[in-house]
Amino acid sequence: MSEYVKELLGEVKAKNPSEPEFHQAVEEVVDSLDIVLEKHPEYRAAKILQRIVEPERVIMFRVPWMDDQGEVQVNRGFRIEMNSAIGPYKGGLRFHPSVNLGILKFLAFEQVFKNSLTTLPMGGGKGGSDFDPKGKSDNEVMRFCQSFMSELCRHIGPNTDVPAGDIGVGGREIGFLFGQYKRLRNEFTGVLTGKGLNWGGSLIRPEATGYGSVYFAAEMLATRGETLEGRVCLVSGSGNVAQFTVEKLIQLGAKAVTLSDSSGYIYDEAGITEDKLEFVMELKNARRGRIKEYAEKYPGVVYTPTDSELDHSPIWSHKADCAFPSATQNEINGKDAGNLLANGIYVVSEGANMPTSLDGVQNFLDAGILYGPAKAANAGGVAVSGLEMTQNSMRLPWTREEVDQRLQQIMKDIHQTCVDMAERFGTPGNYVNGANIGGFLKIADSMMDQGLV
Ligand code: NDP
Repeated sequence: MSEYVKELLGEVKAKNPSEPEFHQAVEEVVDSLDIVLEKHPEYRAAKILQRIVEPERVIMFRVPWMDDQGEVQVNRGFRIEMNSAIGPYKGGLRFHPSVNLGILKFLAFEQVFKNSLTTLPMGGGKGGSDFDPKGKSDNEVMRFCQSFMSELCRHIGPNTDVPAGDIGVGGREIGFLFGQYKRLRNEFTGVLTGKGLNWGGSLIRPEATGYGSVYFAAEMLATRGETLEGRVCLVSGSGNVAQFTVEKLIQLGAKAVTLSDSSGYIYDEAGITEDKLEFVMELKNARRGRIKEYAEKYPGVVYTPTDSELDHSPIWSHKADCAFPSATQNEINGKDAGNLLANGIYVVSEGANMPTSLDGVQNFLDAGILYGPAKAANAGGVAVSGLEMTQNSMRLPWTREEVDQRLQQIMKDIHQTCVDMAERFGTPGNYVNGANIGGFLKIADSMMDQGLV
């Protein structure tokens, strides 16, 4: 790492204390950009890096709401409008008790590069709240969403900032948020993506992140003349991304053997079939139950509860070929990465955002496996959100086949950009450098064109 980049990182840490996830995301990106800055001194002169790590705007607000017992509750709401060099801010909303400013800044920062890679005109943003939808009634979730949107609606719009879902924000929440936006602004617009099909949503949007992450893995395997057929796969999480990752793996003839939630994970050596996946979808999306029930229903399945005392996650210690981390940030640490490699994993495609710690990433790069970092591998979700915006603007919906075909092409293009950029800057096969550089160049050049704003 050059002195220039080290100094920049030091400034970021000093200026943004207590935001370790944001520091981590910035470090991973700027480490890749050293080789670019050497060839492009004009970016240094224009202080592009110093500007790109500073959000254009941060909005923080109170979200008061009343629970079913008539008691007043207060949460904190956020929207980080990170970078609008190539389009309106775009990125999800996360409702989870762990949400804070640093986590949303890391997600917004990643989003800027990811959106640039999709080839679509979208800037980067992220938002959410420390509200926990788990265990809340539908009415409580609705009251919270209405209060959250009462403030957020002043700051967003179809040409300004277009939020979507993320952890804890699925179809139900997007519905309540959209309803309140429409009521307050008196306009029906494509201000959110992930909408219901009857009111402006796109086919394939729910599937897009999981399908995209599998398409990306397939592209990486193709560089070695291989396919996913017959491969054994570890998948973490059991939410939106994990469910559709497993669905696409089944369709392509691979065998997924794990799923998890924050309470524990299941290992199903026989493989998760279409029927079993249907059970998971009903369990998680309708009944909002725990993954443990899977092991209670199907014989031969082992359930392991989460043990926070352990220095590793046992889900990553099974023999397999591919891993699809699809739960949350830093779910694979250095030791987990070592365990994955020792168990024969040679493909990692990240469905979750920044699921691997910096030392874990280094382990994968040193081992020379096919490692697809999140901002490339999980870009399918936001890409189809971009396609939802296009359909809303045209006021014409596309068919399932049309959207899926566009998604596949976008994942192919992102993969090619990563391969080309890694090679052009002297690190062939390094998808981390490829994704960071590919995403960065378009943003940097746009910022240069638009002057000091
Ligand atoms: P969901 O809320 O649908 O599912 C999240 C899953 O991860 C649940 O199984 C949840 O378990 C588990 N999980 C969440 N937090 C933790 C934690 N701290 N420890 C252990 N398990 C946890 O979210 P998504 O599937 O939408 O998102 C998953 C990941 O994918 C996130 O990193 C998100 O940022 C990323 N992503 C999502 C996109 C999308 O389109 N939805 C797009 C791109 C990236 P539990 O129910 O017990 O909390």
